[in-house]
Amino acid sequence: MVSTKKRWRIRTNIVWDVDKNVPVFKDTCWDCNYVELPMTDPGDARPSFDSDRDLLAKTLEEEFGAGKYLNEIIGSGSFLVNKGAGLDDFREIFSRGTIVGKLYWDIIKRRWRFRPSYSAAKIMVEKGVIRKVTVLDYPKEGSNISGNCEVDEHVALVLNGEPIGIGYCRSNGRIRVVTTFPKELYGREPFPAPDIPTNIHDWIKENELRIRMMTSQSEKFLYQMIEKVKKPVTVSFSGGKDSLVSLHLTLKFVTPTVIFNNTGIELPETIETVRKVASKYNLEIVVADAGDDFWHAVKMVGPPARDFRWCCKVTKLVPMAKLAKEKWPDGALNVVGQRAFESIERSKSPRVWRNKWFPHILNISPIHEWTQLDVWFYIYKNNLVELVNPLYFKGFERIGCFMCPASPLAEFETTRSVHPELMERWEKELKIWKDRLNLPEEWITYGLWRWLSPSSRKKSLMRTVGIEYDVWIEYKGRLHPPIIEKKVGDGFVRLKFLSNISHSLSDQESIIGKKRDGKLNAEGYSVTYKENVIEIEGENAIEGAIEVSALIYRWFKCMRCKSCEVWCPTGSIKVTTRPKVNAETCISCKLCLIECPMYDPFSDRIVSAVLLDRFDGWRRSTKPLRKEVLKELKKTFSKPVGEPPVTDDAAELGGL
Ligand code: SF4
Ligand code: SF4
Repeated sequence: MVSTKKRWRIRTNIVWDVDKNVPVFKDTCWDCNYVELPMTDPGDARPSFDSDRDLLAKTLEEEFGAGKYLNEIIGSGSFLVNKGAGLDDFREIFSRGTIVGKLYWDIIKRRWRFRPSYSAAKIMVEKGVIRKVTVLDYPKEGSNISGNCEVDEHVALVLNGEPIGIGYCRSNGRIRVVTTFPKELYGREPFPAPDIPTNIHDWIKENELRIRMMTSQSEKFLYQMIEKVKKPVTVSFSGGKDSLVSLHLTLKFVTPTVIFNNTGIELPETIETVRKVASKYNLEIVVADAGDDFWHAVKMVGPPARDFRWCCKVTKLVPMAKLAKEKWPDGALNVVGQRAFESIERSKSPRVWRNKWFPHILNISPIHEWTQLDVWFYIYKNNLVELVNPLYFKGFERIGCFMCPASPLAEFETTRSVHPELMERWEKELKIWKDRLNLPEEWITYGLWRWLSPSSRKKSLMRTVGIEYDVWIEYKGRLHPPIIEKKVGDGFVRLKFLSNISHSLSDQESIIGKKRDGKLNAEGYSVTYKENVIEIEGENAIEGAIEVSALIYRWFKCMRCKSCEVWCPTGSIKVTTRPKVNAETCISCKLCLIECPMYDPFSDRIVSAVLLDRFDGWRRSTKPLRKEVLKELKKTFSKPVGEPPVTDDAAELGGL
């Protein structure tokens, strides 16, 4: 079977100079005496802050009573923090040229845990702060062995007095072998590098060439793009570190307008940071404001999920598209702090692109190839620290919507510690949906709402916390009015709803197509409807049923964002309480559907799954190809300058 797991195709080249005790980049440190670091891909590590040191000290103390040995265990200087793969937040700690251990969020205990790697285990065994369990040979990872231990504690597996792995004491008193250290480490000194207490300023000194190289490449790119495009320059500023660097680079050439996308679910520190930065450089801020739309929408469709991201459309794409159309009808050059190392999707995204929601705007990312370390080097070197969002120094890994479904549970706890009122508001909304759908309490506690379909992550979380429920409830419970009967045959679909839906269609029927002999005729299917029943016929009946049902649901769930009005090329659609179309002038182009935030997530993720009885209905073979949709869109939209790729990535509106 071919694995569908997404894999990184790029990797940073951060290594550790063991003479100077600093991280360096392999390609700009030719004469360094370095060692490789076993980082999880893509190895986009960041420098540690005081909050990381505090968290490690607290965790070591709580777990092993070893807080006082912090300097011995992780070294007295700064260290690197890299994102690892785990069920929740999982951070690899690199110091003195090696991996020291893994800091991870224990979802059951709801606290941070520390799992030592070889170097930390060696020190901890020496100091007598970790329980030793003697083994006679290297056990297999994942196997169970017996030994004295206390439930839920990490123990050092020791062979002839040397640590060779870490075990976890299970509830049945048995020890599961969590990890064994590489055999070549056996008996070695714990750290390759001496304990020179280096900090970020020392790191910058040793990486001058790299910083100059990255900066000058980005400056050259920006200069060329500004010269070539000759449009007003804007910078999407999210209040995060990447967009701060992009803004600072842009200021070397022009005075841009700052675009801030206020999603309505930002943390107050972010809004304050945007104000502070704009005021420091005396820049005009234009706000793409989602107002309270997120909170209205969540009442209509339930919480967003990683695979049901209506939130990006409602809070980012719609406000930005409206703003772009109104403020820059003739186009603009928008600088975005997007980096390839942020996600696998981003790594595939080009450095210059257009977004289908505002195709007349050309987006560019001057820091596309930068690592987090490059970003922080630039910030410290250019004295921008006072302009950095303070949340980074309070334990936040990213800046963005505070209840983002892509967040690990640990991040919600960090948010709770800083802004308990926000988490309380969000959990109130979750509770309404939990009660409405009759879901277990764990749906909230363990963040199961963050996935709509029973993905492997969701199933694994459900197994770990020991609960089961029918995930279809999360789909069907969002459909109002519900579909109470369906017949899906070859070239034919008949759907019966619980209540009358005819008004929702009569208000919008010209979008589907022209009416002849009582039938609405679209490409590949025709529709008839009466009271609470719709019938679709034709070779494309399935797609027709998905499209028409989603049209019905967007009418019922309309959040009055008026995106449809903005994009309709003939001014045929008007929204008072619901969308209503003037059939005389409507040309059935469907732009008002494609640009409706309530339409796409519903048709693609919910309606298709319910109609086809499969959670992955969005993978159906009859689905129109993305490139065909984009081709049609391109025809309809005003002709853009140049031909860079068109994407629909909402997160590009601001770097993190
Ligand atoms: S129908 Fe129009 S106003 Fe209503 S949610 Fe869709 S785009 Fe917004
Ligand atoms: S965008 Fe306007 S013209 Fe096109 S289908 Fe919608 S209402 Fe009709």
